[in-house]
Amino acid sequence: MEECRGKVAVYYNNKDVRLEDYPEPVIGPGELKVKIDACGLCGGDAMEWYLIHKAPIVLGHEPAGIVFEVGEGVTKFKPGDRVFVHHHVACMSCHYCRRGYFTLCEKFTQTHIYPGAFAEYIALPMSNIWRHHPDIDEDIAAIFDPFGNAVHTALSFPVLGEDVLITGAGPIGLMAAAVVRHAGARFVVITDVNPFRLELAKKMGVTVALNVQDGELPAVQKQLGMTEGFDVGLEMSGNGAAFQDMLANMSHGARIALLGIPAHEMSINWTTVIFNMLTIKGIYGREMYETWYKMTVMLESGLDIKPVITHRLKWQECEKGFEAMRTGNCGKVILDWRE
Ligand code: NAD
Ligand code: ZN
Repeated sequence: MEECRGKVAVYYNNKDVRLEDYPEPVIGPGELKVKIDACGLCGGDAMEWYLIHKAPIVLGHEPAGIVFEVGEGVTKFKPGDRVFVHHHVACMSCHYCRRGYFTLCEKFTQTHIYPGAFAEYIALPMSNIWRHHPDIDEDIAAIFDPFGNAVHTALSFPVLGEDVLITGAGPIGLMAAAVVRHAGARFVVITDVNPFRLELAKKMGVTVALNVQDGELPAVQKQLGMTEGFDVGLEMSGNGAAFQDMLANMSHGARIALLGIPAHEMSINWTTVIFNMLTIKGIYGREMYETWYKMTVMLESGLDIKPVITHRLKWQECEKGFEAMRTGNCGKVILDWRE
C-alpha cells in the first residue's frame, strides 16, 4: 500500500514557500487528527528577520478545520466536527497546570509547536481542540486564535456603560473594539497611525478612530463631552508612546489591560499610576475554554467581527499575505488550505 503523507508549506523566505511532503501525523489515545481548512497569518509569521534564521520552517499557529480521525478513548468529538485547534500544548503537570492556569503553563509560554499548521493535517490532544458551533461562519472559525486575544483583553474589566480607549487598530485591537461595543461600552475610541486600519475601525463600530499623527486624545474627549478621562484602556499597539498617551488620558481609578508587546523596555510616569490609582494588568494569550466559550456565545448573540478579515488567500498566494502584513494595509489575513 502506498504510504499516505500530508503536505506542508515550508517557509524558506517571504518569496519562497514550497509545498513539501511530510509524514502524515499518527494519532495516539486521546488525540485528534484535524484536516486543516484555513490558517490565519499572524504578525510573528510575517516577521522576516525573525524567520530567516529559523528557515526552513513550517509556520502557522492559527489553524481551523474538520476532525478527520479520533484516537482511542475520544468520545466528545467525531469525524466531521468543525473545530479550532489551539496550537500551544499545556503540559498538564507543572505547578501552573495543576492549579488550573493552563495558559500560564511553564512550557506553554515559551513556544508554539513546530512543524506548524500550514499543513494538510495536524494531530493534537483533544484538550487543545474547541468544537465550533455548527452554524459558525467559516472565516470566523479560522480566526479564533487572535479573536481569543481580543476577547480575553477586552473582557478583563467590566465595560458596561464605560468609556473605553484602545491604542492600536491592528486585527486584535479592531476585534476588541467590536467586543467592548457588544459588551455595552458607551464610547469606544481607537487610535493608530495607519489610515487603512482606522477606516476599518469605523466598520467595527467605534465612536471615534483617531490618527495620533493628526489629532490628540484630549480634543477627542472634549468632542465627546467627556470630562474625567477613559474608564478602561486596552493597549494593543506595543508602542511606548501610545501607552504613555493612554496613561495621560485615563480617569482616576481607571483600569488598563496590556496586550501589546513592546519591542523595548519603556518608561512611564509612575506618579500618574500611583496618584490616580490606576490598575494595570498584563494579558497573555487567552484563558483556555473560558475565553472560547465567551467568544462562541457572543457570536451567537450577534457580535460581528467579519469586517476585520480583509484577505482570504490560497496558501500559494501567501507572499501577497506577507506583503499586506508588512505594509499594514490589512486586517486579518487567512490562508485557505482547501483544494
Ligand atoms: P499589529 O502589529 O497588527 O497592530 C498594532 C497596531 O498598532 C498597528 O496597526 C500599528 O500601526 C499601531 N500603532 C503603532 N504605533 C502606534 C501609536 N503610536 N498609537 C496607536 N497605534 C499605534 O498587532 P496585532 O496582531 O493586532 O496585535 C496587537 C499587539 O498585541 C501586538 O503588539 C502583538 O505583538 C501583541 N500580541 C500579544 C499577545 C499576548 O498574548 N500578549 C498575543 C498576540 C499579540
Ligand atoms: Zn504545565
